Amino acid sequence: MLPFLSLIVIAVLLIGYIVAKPSWREYQRDKVRKLPFKKGWRVIIQQRMPYFRQMPADLQLQLKQHIQVFLAEKKFVGCNGVEITDEIKITVAAQACLLLLNRKTDYYPKLHTILIYPSAFIKEQQSMHAGGVLHHQRVTLAGESWDSGTVVLSWQDTIDGADIPDDGHNVVIHEFAHQLDQEKGSANGAPILGKDQNYKDWSDVFSSQYELLRKQKKSGIPSLFDYYGATNPAEFFAVTSEVFFEQAHKFHQHYPMLYQQLKLYYKVDPIYW
Ligand SMILES: [Zn+2]
Repeated sequence: MLPFLSLIVIAVLLIGYIVAKPSWREYQRDKVRKLPFKKGWRVIIQQRMPYFRQMPADLQLQLKQHIQVFLAEKKFVGCNGVEITDEIKITVAAQACLLLLNRKTDYYPKLHTILIYPSAFIKEQQSMHAGGVLHHQRVTLAGESWDSGTVVLSWQDTIDGADIPDDGHNVVIHEFAHQLDQEKGSANGAPILGKDQNYKDWSDVFSSQYELLRKQKKSGIPSLFDYYGATNPAEFFAVTSEVFFEQAHKFHQHYPMLYQQLKLYYKVDPIYW
């Protein structure tokens, strides 16, 4: 009888824990969101994100509250001599949280650590070529997003991406778009969509525009999107996300259907910033 009762008690406690955990976490986050936002942090955002001033007041407030939660939950680690400063943390957090506005978010739930390198870093890559030949390669990267919960960024490339806010290149937006894509497993260019979107529309529009970029790359025809987006659908989603936030006008003008899908997904319209 006693072991049976113990089992019931354990089951009740376990269910209670499962039910209470998300609301407890939400309660904690709400407390963090209400903390005063340091003046120095606001100055960093204005320097590193010039369009912040143009954003509607409610989005500015949301962004600042998201940054507080992001900083409370994610760990920054400096690599190769980088010392983590407020400038690094705020610059990265502000751009990462730009992708979370206007929707229910769990703040990149898989992500726990952001590694910061001083500049582009070298990575050894292996790939299998025809005939089963294993090919070793050293590649230089500005950023990387791992689905095991880490984002790696070059600080130099992060600053370069932020300094020119309308060139369509932003390594932080790129890597955090991958994190969104990786929430449901490996990145494949189809993140979890909201209730007001459907996967067929997303897939139809993204597939045709991805194929177009592949053809343009092959024939050397210039595109608003970096040819790197033609690597695979996951890269296409990350590259188009960079352009969505940084060159909204041109994007909307040349690719209205693709723009519409990203507008529905990100729930903001950067044309007005
Ligand atoms: Zn990428």
